[in-house]
Amino acid sequence: MKGKTFCPRCGKTDEELFNGLCRSCFVEDFNLITVPDEINLNTCTQCGSVQKKGRWYDSNLFLEDQAVETILEHIKVSELASDVNIVPELESIHGSILEFLIKVTGHVLGGEVSQEFLVKVKVDKTVCSECSKYASGYYEAVIQLRADDRSLSAEEIEAADEDLRTRLGKLSQENRMAYISQRAQIKEGIDYYIGSYKAARKLTESLKNKLGGMINESPRLMGRDKSAGKDLYRVWILLRLPHFLKGDFVKYNDLPNQVTGYDGSKIYLKDLESSERISIPWKSAGKLEVVARKDEVKSVLVSSKTPESVQILHPETYQPVDIALHQDSPPITIGEEVKVVEIGNVFYLLD
Ligand SMILES: [Zn+2]
Ligand SMILES: [Zn+2]
Repeated sequence: MKGKTFCPRCGKTDEELFNGLCRSCFVEDFNLITVPDEINLNTCTQCGSVQKKGRWYDSNLFLEDQAVETILEHIKVSELASDVNIVPELESIHGSILEFLIKVTGHVLGGEVSQEFLVKVKVDKTVCSECSKYASGYYEAVIQLRADDRSLSAEEIEAADEDLRTRLGKLSQENRMAYISQRAQIKEGIDYYIGSYKAARKLTESLKNKLGGMINESPRLMGRDKSAGKDLYRVWILLRLPHFLKGDFVKYNDLPNQVTGYDGSKIYLKDLESSERISIPWKSAGKLEVVARKDEVKSVLVSSKTPESVQILHPETYQPVDIALHQDSPPITIGEEVKVVEIGNVFYLLD
């Protein structure tokens, strides 16, 4: 017997030993994988997301596939095994428990091994943190839509509602906190309560591109999240629309201009005397003084004309009034109706 090795389990001699056992006895005890007998799976009844290690993740899988995914995440493959193939098959469903038979094949110590494991996945249907925040009306930011020295126009309100609806439809695909928890119409304007601050910022930028205006943010400390160890802020994002509307008349550098339009970055003006078009940044909006509203534009008849001027009849007094023409004035014929605006007792011809 001297010099000979033998397997203490089966007694075979002259065998190479692994962990003190012959190959076949070693493989008998060997597990290709380790996997818990029972796994808990938390899913949200509202949005279908799945909880993993305390965090919630989006999921658009069916429950069975979520269970398979969870099983695979819990499986550890032995370092001694190679070419391992794992196939979980749903065996039965009892209430909230899904039972899987996991068929595993692989190679160990040069031989092929097939094994089966039974795993129970216990499904806990609950509500994720984001859905419960939504249900409770939680919000991180308030978009305050206001207009300077005037009320919001019906068109502005409609455009804002429409823009938010469209943008939220897109944003909510990536961010479940992108929702309006409340819309409050108050005498100063409209407040939109938004679940996510990040989404609220994007939404306000989008509104500004559509409606113009200037953005101001003011965060307020609301308390402290002890578990995350950070301060909790709620942010009020003010979008102030200008005191003028498109088509209104303003004085800029003492010259009368018509506001031909504006977007997120600039205000576009047309000089009423020279027809020159310029654009100015929003930070200069405060320098624009409204001198006439667009509904003050009047239609009048041209009673006579010289190369340098046209004569119209004053819309109220019917007295003749001369308006000087310039290089860029539109072509005009006598008897034609033209649009004019009166600013500081002076009439200006409009296109
Ligand atoms: Zn043996
Ligand atoms: Zn949810």
